[in-house]
Amino acid sequence: SDFTQLGLIPELLETLKLLSYTTPTPIQSHMIPAVIAGKDVLGGAKTGSGKTAAFALPIIQKLAKAEPRKAGSNFVSCLVLVPTRELAQQVSDSFMRYSQLIKPNLKTLSVYGGVSTNTQMQSLRGGADIVVATPGRLIDLISSNALKLDKTHTLVLDEADRMLSLGFTEELNELLGKLPKAKQTLLFSATFPEEVRELTSSLLNNPVEVQL
Ligand code: AMP
Repeated sequence: SDFTQLGLIPELLETLKLLSYTTPTPIQSHMIPAVIAGKDVLGGAKTGSGKTAAFALPIIQKLAKAEPRKAGSNFVSCLVLVPTRELAQQVSDSFMRYSQLIKPNLKTLSVYGGVSTNTQMQSLRGGADIVVATPGRLIDLISSNALKLDKTHTLVLDEADRMLSLGFTEELNELLGKLPKAKQTLLFSATFPEEVRELTSSLLNNPVEVQL
């Protein structure tokens, strides 16, 4: 099989050609059509399985087809929560790489702790299409009114098991409470301990499961 079977728009097929991605990985073949169809997804995939492209490509497609963000607001269309700064940088780099041919350009930002809040606040002016964030810094920025989650329609939780084992449970629950009820949610975890299963059943609505 190849990428042309998955329902992707021409700009994304062209990008994949530029990147020399010829064949979708199994998680990509399963997930891309499900996300395009608007379904929630539960993914049991590990790093190296191609999971970042599996969620980033269909989300970029959804954002490219949606109404552009309103100027002057600080809303975020898609929120990606990750456990670490390194992963925040990697995932936002992937979103930028995969959306390079989309016009008008999508605005992707990463926010994480350990660096100046001021720079991140300035970048957030006018909102963003995609924000990739660690939970603690995101809460600080919301408290300072640097961004709002009221209009967020797509949520990704990446490495959910690691996020919980690193002690982000309280922050995660606080953030989930600020998001609209009606949204599309994709959750990834390498392992499924009780805490992750509880999160999954409270958050996902009739999900498509992709286990590899
Ligand atoms: P990930 O698991 O998403 O972090 O991807 C692991 C690596 O595989 C990254 O360097 C991607 O750029 C690369 N990759 C992902 N999907 C494909 C594909 N279908 N063909 C070739 N390389 C890919």
